[in-house]
Amino acid sequence: MDVQLLGGAGEIGRSAIYIDETLLLDFGMDSGNPPAFPIGDVDPEAVVVSHGHLDHVGSIPTLLSGDARPSIHWTPPTYDLTMVLARDTLKLHGGSYDCPFTEAELSRVAQVSETHGYEESFEVAGYEITFFDAGHVPGSAHVLVNDGETRLLYTGDFHIEGQRLLAGTTARPDADVVLCESTYSDVTRPPREEIEREFAESLRTTIWEGGTVVVPAFGIGRTQEVLCLCEEYDLECYVDGMGTHVTELFLRERNREFLRDPDLLRRAKGNARFVDGRDGQRERIAEQNTVIVTTSGMLHGGPAMTYVPAIRSHPTNKIAMTGYQVEGTPGRDLLETGSAEIDGRMMPVSAQVEQYDFSAHADREGLYSFLEAYEDERVLINHGDRCEDFAAELRADGYDASAPELGERIEC
Ligand SMILES: [Zn+2]
Repeated sequence: MDVQLLGGAGEIGRSAIYIDETLLLDFGMDSGNPPAFPIGDVDPEAVVVSHGHLDHVGSIPTLLSGDARPSIHWTPPTYDLTMVLARDTLKLHGGSYDCPFTEAELSRVAQVSETHGYEESFEVAGYEITFFDAGHVPGSAHVLVNDGETRLLYTGDFHIEGQRLLAGTTARPDADVVLCESTYSDVTRPPREEIEREFAESLRTTIWEGGTVVVPAFGIGRTQEVLCLCEEYDLECYVDGMGTHVTELFLRERNREFLRDPDLLRRAKGNARFVDGRDGQRERIAEQNTVIVTTSGMLHGGPAMTYVPAIRSHPTNKIAMTGYQVEGTPGRDLLETGSAEIDGRMMPVSAQVEQYDFSAHADREGLYSFLEAYEDERVLINHGDRCEDFAAELRADGYDASAPELGERIEC
């Protein structure tokens, strides 16, 4: 088996893995400025997708240009999320140079889509493929690829620890080669429960003091996780942005089985008030003594552009970040300097700013505990800012580990 990383080698964003120039695993985009796409020209017979985040699916419609019609294989939630993200990309960049695909290409995705559940093997382009629950976002999968000689396990993004929305991964299928993500290979987190409790207490305090809390959260996974916390901790909240639509999508009949507890999300949805942003609704909500869960998670767009300016001048108010803030984003600037460029204007913020790590990725300990099952196998490291360092640390612990370079062909 010939494995080539066309993106996601020593970086996060634009994940793409080409097997024997026949089978493509993921085809993402990096939404930075300017956006970045996987390298090279590809002409796969089939595409298998690990999960519905932009850095894994963002470029998929481009595979359907001209006469190319590779079949695309994923779980039902991953298909739904890909369509939401692709429509969002068209809305943001449609017609511009930055838009990687057209409306016509997007409309073909449904024609070539084939959905599969966990642990139901299927044949595609001469390979046997099996999905296993990766515990990252609903529908996320570890992908096992078997060509009859070599079994490659592509972990995709995964989490070991349980979240409200999902249980952590327990699957450790037999494999000869493991291609493992390493996003948080140098981070050790406190137990989730502890982070949850601190977060809920902080929100409660601000409400008690008469303030407003804005919770910037990614629309896919994080928003729903925070809504579940609000329900469990009895906090009233509003929800706005892409997360509203995604919450409904997760509760669709065919997607419910991919949730840990569909009933909890249903109750969380009932507890939250959905905002559509018409007629100055956002400005009015920002004056209330409440919690507002909204996109974007790093404050570079979305309804947060209305809420943050509205609440920023009063120190009783609070902005509670729910994830890692990439360098150069307004969210990161706000944490580090107390001011940020919001919607094109530099703004000092007197409201309290806090950060909570609700990541859906394994931390260092989690990566080690996963890889323990593959001590005697070959390990390839991707999807991280320090892949080579992590591979070296694994080698020091006796693993046969390496970090492939972008475009390098690895014979497995
Ligand atoms: Zn992901």
